[in-house]
Amino acid sequence: MKLLDQAMNSAKQVISTAGRKTGTAMELSKMKLQVMQLRSQVQSTYERIGTLTYEQQKVGTDNYDLIVVCIQEVDELLTEINEVNAKISEMKDGVVCSRCRTVNPAGTVYCKSCGNRLKKGRAKGE
Ligand SMILES: [Zn+2]
Repeated sequence: MKLLDQAMNSAKQVISTAGRKTGTAMELSKMKLQVMQLRSQVQSTYERIGTLTYEQQKVGTDNYDLIVVCIQEVDELLTEINEVNAKISEMKDGVVCSRCRTVNPAGTVYCKSCGNRLKKGRAKGE
């Protein structure tokens, strides 16, 4: 849990720095930070799997269940990383709703989440 606390603290620091930026840039740096944190969580889980496997081979401790849990954790983290990365690439070309912060694909006129009219959509001559 200590590691998680540290990650949260550094996240808060970076987010407050990013707070000076506005809109998409801020959302993007938050998500990039999230990916970085998720990746470091994956790394430490990999390390844990390594240690557990080592103990199992060397000392004969039965770590099978723990290893299974760690592997599931890695899978979940990797899925989350993919989702965030997908959002990042969508956001790079997309339009962020000024009301609800949902990212809409480029050229969208109305927000897919709240129906708010999007500025970039209007700029396309409607
Ligand atoms: Zn919206």
